[in-house]
Amino acid sequence: MRILVANLGSTSLKWRLFRFADGGEELLHKGGFERVADYPRAIDDCLAALRRGGAIETEADVDAVGFKTIIARGVDGCVRLTDPVLAAMEAYNGLAPAHNPPYITGIRLFARRMPRTPLFGLFETAFYQWAPEAAKRYAVPDDWHQRGVRRWGFHGASHKYIAERSAQLLGRDDVARRARNLYLDGGTTPVRTPDLRVISCHLGGSSSVTGILNGVGVGNSLGMSPQSGLPHNNRVGDLDPFALGYVMRSAGLSLDQAETALCQASGLMGLSGGDNDIRDIESRAAEGNARARLALDVLIHEARRWIGGYYLQLNAIDALVFTAGIGENDPLVRDGICRNLDQLGLLLDPALNQSARGRETVISAPESRVRVLVIPANEELVVAREVKRQLDAAA
Ligand code: AMP
Repeated sequence: MRILVANLGSTSLKWRLFRFADGGEELLHKGGFERVADYPRAIDDCLAALRRGGAIETEADVDAVGFKTIIARGVDGCVRLTDPVLAAMEAYNGLAPAHNPPYITGIRLFARRMPRTPLFGLFETAFYQWAPEAAKRYAVPDDWHQRGVRRWGFHGASHKYIAERSAQLLGRDDVARRARNLYLDGGTTPVRTPDLRVISCHLGGSSSVTGILNGVGVGNSLGMSPQSGLPHNNRVGDLDPFALGYVMRSAGLSLDQAETALCQASGLMGLSGGDNDIRDIESRAAEGNARARLALDVLIHEARRWIGGYYLQLNAIDALVFTAGIGENDPLVRDGICRNLDQLGLLLDPALNQSARGRETVISAPESRVRVLVIPANEELVVAREVKRQLDAAA
């Protein structure tokens, strides 16, 4: 069985093709295009690249296409992308303006280009379905709650991969199995004692922290929209809701203008005064630029605030995991986050931290009670596995 996972941006298309055979799984091909002007052509070019690379002979060899979809009203988990599901995604376009519209457009184009191939979406909110209600609830009037104003959480595919992989690395195959089966049985696969408690830090263009108990997400720093939680590259992170009305009135901004500023000119970009890539921010901070230094400090401070919350919620942790572009590659940010935590049982090994870039590594000191791990993100594999499960169930 071959499953294509497509990652859609407004001007980018990236993909990975997986083959599942005899209980094994294999990445057959990966590729992508940036600065896409003609999306239908980019899909043609993707399929041509798969044929050229020998990953498929004909398009009929692709059994399904999976998408890491973000959020839809009243829909969660891994589902077939039918017209009603796309309409439910459209209903939440305003919550995820940088994500939902390009996904909907791209999915419709894939449906037109490959009409006989089933398309599935694994929603990024799915990992938090079994989190305690108190971790998902905003203190708003009930009518708002009924309309969907709640802390949904995102980056579900990334944190689910970390839940499973960290358990394997910590010698807990029972917990890894529970994480793997989560969308099948809601976290009821039995596990041994003691509990396995992990905090996962997905730090990249978009960042979030998640607590994981025995393979199941107990909450996520992203709230109702992917603009919340930690500061992101251009997106704001947490903000007092009354700041919005205040700035609109005092600076004479429309709602659209204010939302655009929060999505495109905030986060690390707003803090640093123009840079949104952590590498550029660190170079400027090293040259003595105070705003660049502040951007780093805020990212680190906010990450620690969420880590602290989950540390208490979980009653200490066995492992802290770093993943995604910054988490996998940036010793300075990891060091800032792990500073001064010896009383919580966490000690980084400076040399291991410095050399860990983009590969699976332990970076804590041998005497550290909490293991600190770097695990490269593998969200597409999680999508492909869930799509396979759907195809198996339908067979
Ligand atoms: P992601 O959203 O996971 O693709 O992460 C993208 C972000 O990761 C970029 O904006 C950079 O800030 C950061 N990043 C990517 N590669 C590196 C690297 N080699 N060193 C430090 N940061 C990196």
